Amino acid sequence: MSDAMVAASASEATSGGTTQQVDVAVVGAGFAGLYLLHRLRRAGFTTVTLEEADDVGGTWYWNRYPGARCDIQTIDYTYTFDPELESGWKWSEKYATQPEILRYLGFVADRYDLRRDIRFRTKVTAATWSQAVERWMLKTDNGPAVSCRYYIMATGCLSAPKPPEIDGVKDFKGEIYFTGRWPHEEVKLAGKRIAVIGTGSSGIQSIPLIAEQAAHLTVFQRTPNFALPAHNGPAPVDRVTLLENDRVSYREQARMSLAGVPWPQQMAVSWQLSDAERRERFEKAWAAGDLVYILTQLWADQAVDVDGNALLAELFREKIRATVKDPETAEALIPYDHPFGAKRPCLDTNYYATYNRPNVTLVNLRQEPIKSITASGINTETRAFDADVIVFATGFDAMTGAIMAVHPITGRGGKSLSDVWANGPQTYLGLTVAGFPNLFMITGPGSPSVLSNMAVSIEQHVDWVVDRLIAMREAGFTTIEATEMAQAGWARHMADCSMLTLHRLANTWYTGANVPGKAQGVMPYTGGVGPYRSICNEVVGRGMLGFKLTGPNVAEQCNDGEIVRLQPDVRLVLNMLADLKLPPLESFGSQGLRDFVAQFNASRPAGRPVGEVLDGTLPGPDGPLPYRLYRPATPGPHPIVVYFHGGGWVLGDEQADEPFCRDMSRRTGMIFVSVGYRHAPEHRFPAAAEDAYAATRWIADHAGELGGQPGPVLVAGWSAGGNVAAVACQLAQDRGGPQIAGQLLVCPVTDCRFDRSSYNDNAAGYFLTRSLMYWFWDLYCSPADRTDPRVSPLRGKLTGLPPAFVVTCEFDPLRDEGIAYAEALAAAGVPVEQLQARGHFHSSFTMVDVVITGVSGRVQMAQALRRFAGLPPERKQGDEGVRPDRTAAPREISVAAG
Ligand code: NAP
Repeated sequence: MSDAMVAASASEATSGGTTQQVDVAVVGAGFAGLYLLHRLRRAGFTTVTLEEADDVGGTWYWNRYPGARCDIQTIDYTYTFDPELESGWKWSEKYATQPEILRYLGFVADRYDLRRDIRFRTKVTAATWSQAVERWMLKTDNGPAVSCRYYIMATGCLSAPKPPEIDGVKDFKGEIYFTGRWPHEEVKLAGKRIAVIGTGSSGIQSIPLIAEQAAHLTVFQRTPNFALPAHNGPAPVDRVTLLENDRVSYREQARMSLAGVPWPQQMAVSWQLSDAERRERFEKAWAAGDLVYILTQLWADQAVDVDGNALLAELFREKIRATVKDPETAEALIPYDHPFGAKRPCLDTNYYATYNRPNVTLVNLRQEPIKSITASGINTETRAFDADVIVFATGFDAMTGAIMAVHPITGRGGKSLSDVWANGPQTYLGLTVAGFPNLFMITGPGSPSVLSNMAVSIEQHVDWVVDRLIAMREAGFTTIEATEMAQAGWARHMADCSMLTLHRLANTWYTGANVPGKAQGVMPYTGGVGPYRSICNEVVGRGMLGFKLTGPNVAEQCNDGEIVRLQPDVRLVLNMLADLKLPPLESFGSQGLRDFVAQFNASRPAGRPVGEVLDGTLPGPDGPLPYRLYRPATPGPHPIVVYFHGGGWVLGDEQADEPFCRDMSRRTGMIFVSVGYRHAPEHRFPAAAEDAYAATRWIADHAGELGGQPGPVLVAGWSAGGNVAAVACQLAQDRGGPQIAGQLLVCPVTDCRFDRSSYNDNAAGYFLTRSLMYWFWDLYCSPADRTDPRVSPLRGKLTGLPPAFVVTCEFDPLRDEGIAYAEALAAAGVPVEQLQARGHFHSSFTMVDVVITGVSGRVQMAQALRRFAGLPPERKQGDEGVRPDRTAAPREISVAAG
């Protein structure tokens, strides 16, 4: 349809009123809207921006309460798209004030002459997609409607203030202010009795300044928050030098970082550091006064593990106690209900010290909730507080509020966005929604947005969207829409990412928990800014994966699929390995590969502390075999697990899977004895199998001497170790002992057939490759021997074997033979549980402390081993923050009849 015809049908649709025709309509003239307008115009799109306020600024237009400042250092919270703009503006402070940021945005608007395409004082009241003309029609409350090909919401994440949900607000006879809608004219607070409700970032920034003016300030606190002193002043010299020495790489590092500020990935984990080292790191962060720094730089497990987090939270609490003189007030100000960072922490100036002032009272609403607001003030359940002014610092209907404020947004087939999002926002990449063609959101739910430096995320989204529109125009496409499959895949990936963080353990606006009745779930993307950017780029690189594109004169294009099927941490590991650009591992030769693996293992943390680690030897069929024993710190005697490491019968030793053995020993409360069996090519089949059997028998016979429980042992193994563990169980049955209470087989080799799907599906790209497996087989076992059950246990006699827990990983060449073994055991009447780990690769479970999403699998493995040993399931230290992934629950395989 030609543009003239579009215009005609569009103006008909508005019942005679003039309709403004543009290629793209943008809603919002804040950070995102201004840059959008600039880029769209430069790209030659006709554009209008609709803005409710009477000037530019977005959040910085509305939030003008006393003390409003940014809380990301301003040298980072700034546009970076134009070097001349960067050199044309100098920020005056480490954290700029709201007036300065607003001046900056005005300066940007002037510099690019943006205001001429912005319709101020104009609210969009409804948006409807017309499939017939392939355009959006936007109704407004001021001036003509807008017909546009593309509709982009740059409405901000924290723009719709939340109503206070307190009875009697209308009865109050004094003045009422909302931090998020602070008046433009001066507000006179001096000498007044002021009540502030809310202690989030807005409350915490404004309370110290209000206290300086008020006759008396009463703060009504429902939940205490963590606040870090900003130590504001000039921008820190070290950061400015870093930026000025190499602006391009500084900005690039920010774009690829976790949170949009260039700090490196922290590698040291809390339990590798002494108390003194942890305290030193904490003090440095406290002095730095930088939220991103303290959220990411102390230790690697601070944001993913409750134990690692608790160490930091406690140091924080000490600071509050040391600052607030009245112990009862201090205690009320200390957060206990959420891990540090799970809820947005705040940046403050004199916040805690303000409670030492004689004119400030803290009311702890957990002890005396607000009953109502009256004509003269606020009544709690126990007291009445008179006030001249009430300030609501009660927050926002975050992330979705401003989008849903345009109501209805009606997509294809008359679908309303509020219906589609009734159970929480569904998006693809946080940018688009299936069923709503040509609609984009900048920093929408499902993107890193509020968990990042917004300036960086906004530029990335704007660039991505405008670049797509240009590419579509060049290719002749006129519509773009996310597919349901891509969107569902993104929801799964979002859920996988959020399992890694602690946000779900807090009542926070990140999850919608602050708005009564709102569907709850972690709304921002928690996988990090850099990974997110690379995913968006990958979508493009893979032919707009997950999008349907149509146009009048071109064939429809739809590469349907899920952009991330791996667990997020597995994806990072595999990307890092891919960056190493290693040759095929088998090309190293057996000794070369052993050296490589030893070097690789030397750089990893050994694993968490256990009660004792002991080395010894035991007699094997052809000489002594080394072992390493891991004893739990709990009182013994403990059941014993005989463990066999992975490495394709060629690599590794009794220490190779040390982090896994330590972790499992702690989780199970059992002794793990990891056995160093003989390797190929020096010792070919059946050396490894015979060693495994001999070691199992010896350990069972000497359980008491090893400090273990006499009686049946358990066996476990990973990969080729899973193979020899399974074989040891069969040999023990054939040869009359020892007794084995259960077997844990993690990604085991079970058969010599290479034609199962997983060998093809996962032939390359997931570290363990098909060609490497062929090489391992060739080194260990000649073709004539391969059907022997001592190397292909799937072909053995399975009836009567010990109960088994079999773990397989989706992206593993060995997946299907593991599943086949579990099914064959079940068919033979062996009790079997099987964990099919979605999104995992062959090494997921042994890369403890790297593949954090492997925790829930290891929890289940530990529970299975305890069941096999007749012990009750036990809560393991350190997993409180990691709930088992219900989608990865083990399945019990029913015993086939006959
Ligand atoms: P917020 O973090 O949601 O805090 C709202 C506060 O009001 C909380 O303490 C909340 O208690 C309390 N509250 C809400 N409803 C209440 C009720 N009915 N009765 C009693 N108390 C109630 O909101 P915010 O402070 O406006 O900050 C929101 C976000 O905006 C921040 O997290 C930050 O991302 C951003 N922000 C940034 C800056 C900056 O960059 N400098 C400044 C301000 C805000 P509960 O915790 O118990 O719900």
